[in-house]
Order: sequence, then structure tokens, then C-alpha cells
Amino acid sequence: MRPSSDVAYLSRALKAPRVREVASRLADRAREEGWDYEAYLAAVLAEEVSGRESHGGENRVKAAHFPQTKTLDDFDFSFQRSIKRQTVAHLAQLDFLAERKNVIFLGPPGTGKTHLSIALGVQAARRGHRVAFATAHEWVLKLGTAKRAGKLEEELERLGRIPLLVVDEVGYIPFDPEAAALFFALVSSRYERSSLIVSSNKTFSAWAEIFGDPVAVAAMVDRLVHHAEIVVLRGDSYRLKGKGKDLMGSEGAA
Ligand code: ADP
Ligand code: MG
Repeated sequence: MRPSSDVAYLSRALKAPRVREVASRLADRAREEGWDYEAYLAAVLAEEVSGRESHGGENRVKAAHFPQTKTLDDFDFSFQRSIKRQTVAHLAQLDFLAERKNVIFLGPPGTGKTHLSIALGVQAARRGHRVAFATAHEWVLKLGTAKRAGKLEEELERLGRIPLLVVDEVGYIPFDPEAAALFFALVSSRYERSSLIVSSNKTFSAWAEIFGDPVAVAAMVDRLVHHAEIVVLRGDSYRLKGKGKDLMGSEGAA
């Protein structure tokens, strides 16, 4: 028996290339330091896991098409005082993903909704989950294209296999009835199956106006918030930080 070539063969079969790279070096160390079998196995597997996390993670971050990369480390909680650091730290543990819940950020422009959505998305990607980011408007355009090709169901099913979709900027552009119907289809296809992070500059009560049909909106919001963490952000726009309060008048834009 040639153990090293067996390891090479087996690690290829398992698609675990780090195992082959580290097996013999760690075996030398194990012999020198008197590790038991379990400690050796754990050390080899840990190398494989961290290799996968850093490598696959960056690929998943790219594949998600975030408009910029933002992280929780660059979020200034002393500027944004309406949310607690612990709330966000808890979200970053990604229990919501495991539980197929949604996260909803509501608040005026510049309060950090997109930043936090991206940061949670990046975290999820780095932790091994597929993520896709787009604005509400872009999602609806994509679904419209699929629908015209007779492939709406197929597209919703494909998206359903992505555990986290980020839907940014609900409410910046009003939806026509067809767009609204596509958005509702997206939300209901994911209900209790896969997660959404949604952000909006409008409160739910104003959503009826964005989508037009108050009854359908109520049903959609119901599904969206049934299993959701809702984070309400307040305060001034970070974009206007240091530019003087009088720039935007008293309350800022809606
Ligand atoms: P919103 O989506 O709520 O309109 P963004 O998240 O896009 O706002 O924030 C606008 C800009 O300000 C972004 O560049 C973002 O990174 C930055 N920003 C917002 N809030 C903070 C914060 N508390 N700490 C650091 N940067 C922030
Ligand atoms: Mg935004």
C-alpha cells in the first residue's frame, strides 16, 4: 500500500485538495508532537475547511454582484445611533438564514440600509451561502424578461435555490401592475423557504402607493414580515455628514 498516493487519490475524489497538500506535513508534526489520531484528523480537516471558506467565499462575494463591498467593521455605530451594535452582530450570526427568515431595513436615505444589507450579504457569502444582490427594480426587470420567455416559474425556482437574495431600494421607483405582480410572486415563492433582505425608504403603510393594489400589498407584506427581523433606522444621512444640517431642510427627504 502507498498511503501518500492513496491520500492524493482520495482527496481528489472528495474534491478536497487542501487535504493532500497538508496531510504529510501535518503527519510529520503529529509524530513529532505525539498527537493522537483524532487530533491529526481534525487538524487536516480544519485546513480543508479554512481553505474552502477563504477561497469559495471570495467567489461567492463576486457572484453576488454587490454594488460595493461594505462590511460591518466599517459601519460607524456612533453615527447611526438608532440601532444597537448587538442587533446587527446578532444578525451577522446568520441565524435568520438557517431559519429562512427575512431581514427588513426601513429608514430614510443615507441611514445605512444598503450598507448593512451588503455587509450581511458579504458575511453570508463568506460563510458558505450563495447570495444575489439587486435593486427591487432590477429584480422585477429580470423576472419580466423570464416571464416574456415563458420561464417565470423556472426562474423563481432557480432563485429559490439561492438561500439569500438582497432586494435593495423598494419604493424608490413605483411599480406598474405587472411589476407589482412579479414582485409579489418573488416574495411568495420564497416564503418560509429561503431568505430575503429587503430595504426601503418607505414605511409599510406607504407601500400600497408604491405597488398600487392595497389588498395584494397587505397579503405580500404579511408574508414578508411573518418571519422577519425588522430594523428601523432613523437619523440624518451619512452622505451629508459634516455638510451642515441646513442642506436638506429640517427632516430630509422621504
Ligand atoms: P441608504 O441605503 O440607507 O440610503 P447607504 O447604506 O447607501 O444608505 O449609505 C450611504 C453611504 O454612507 C454609503 O457609502 C455607506 O457606506 C455610508 N454609511 C451610511 N451609514 C454609515 C455608518 N453608520 N457608518 C459608516 N458608513 C455609513
Ligand atoms: Mg440604499
